[in-house]
Amino acid sequence: VIRLDGKTVAEHVKQRLLPRIEHFKSKIGRSPHLVVVLVGDDPASQVYVKNKQLACEKLGMKSTLLRKPANLSQADLEKLISELNTDDAVDGVLVQMPLPSHLKSDKIFELLDPSKDADGFSYFSTGLLWAGKATVKPCTPAGVIEILKYYKIPLKGKNVVVVGRSHIVGKPVAALLLDENATVTVVHSHTVNMQEYTQNADVVVVAAGKPHLLGKNDFKKDAVVIDVGIHGTGKGNLHGDVRFEELEGWVSAATPVPGGVGPMTIAMLLQNTVSLAEKRKF
Ligand code: NAD
Repeated sequence: VIRLDGKTVAEHVKQRLLPRIEHFKSKIGRSPHLVVVLVGDDPASQVYVKNKQLACEKLGMKSTLLRKPANLSQADLEKLISELNTDDAVDGVLVQMPLPSHLKSDKIFELLDPSKDADGFSYFSTGLLWAGKATVKPCTPAGVIEILKYYKIPLKGKNVVVVGRSHIVGKPVAALLLDENATVTVVHSHTVNMQEYTQNADVVVVAAGKPHLLGKNDFKKDAVVIDVGIHGTGKGNLHGDVRFEELEGWVSAATPVPGGVGPMTIAMLLQNTVSLAEKRKF
């Protein structure tokens, strides 16, 4: 099994950004600037946000963390988004999910200006994505495509099955795979006999959020398996939606967890922020 190494591809994406960041700095006189909004004190979110900020700084980009208390009102959150939408010193905005349960993420996806939408989750960005006109693509799905391209895995005319249909992963990855001329089937929790689909796929992208859901018997010989799932064991170990250890000698290539799709998400966020910065009119 070829291990599709997300760390290597993420590094490649970041290196590719350096000249663009330098060019932006010399032209505009400041770095591309990402603002991350973190509401509440969810421990996992705090780690994600910190990693995003560190990655920005490492590439010479500016990042600002706006921390808000867990009891922030919907009106105050919406006011903050409106202010960031019109702040000329801000190129990209990311609202860390999940929000505390009294806040509506739908409203944020409606309100966030698509020209500042670093995550690519706003509904306007979703429309652009399906129209094939996106400036930014949702980070994890875009990362999946980067890995497949880096390892030169053919997609044109191939049968690709996506397991999962979320707004964050399944649906956008299906849109991006269609743009690569794959024949795409999306299966989900209501699919009858899911194996019939996955066993016929040349490439399977698994984003079900169910630990160890799929194994060798679900894939055809020499298939390519991309595992988006991330699950903690509570002991610091991570694993995915796929039983990776069963794949040896059966599939041709697969992403490990950790070290597969995970590292790509931040790299693509940085790329989105640079792309949004470059598109702005000063
Ligand atoms: P989600 O729970 O929003 O969506 C899961 C999807 O899988 C749903 O559409 C559901 O219909 C489908 N599903 C659930 N059980 C299924 C089953 N038994 N068979 C077939 N389909 C099934 O999750 P999500 O936000 O799309 O995330 C999916 C996984 O990816 C999670 O483990 C999450 O932690 C991980 N994730 C990783 C990254 C990353 O950076 N690598 C980013 C986002 C999400």
